[in-house]
Amino acid sequence: MAKSSKREFVWMQCTECKDLNYRTNVSVMGGTPKLELKKYCPRERKRTVHKLKRK
Ligand SMILES: [Zn+2]
Repeated sequence: MAKSSKREFVWMQCTECKDLNYRTNVSVMGGTPKLELKKYCPRERKRTVHKLKRK
């Protein structure tokens, strides 16, 4: 099970206030996953949609 999966750090960016609230790593084999998640935004103190943002 020595499968080499390429992992990359990405940010989860709030789509409303543009804050970078979470950092995570994703597998980027075959392109960037287009991911949108509902996450808690500390600045707005509510749950908003966050998108992956690569550096
Ligand atoms: Zn926000």
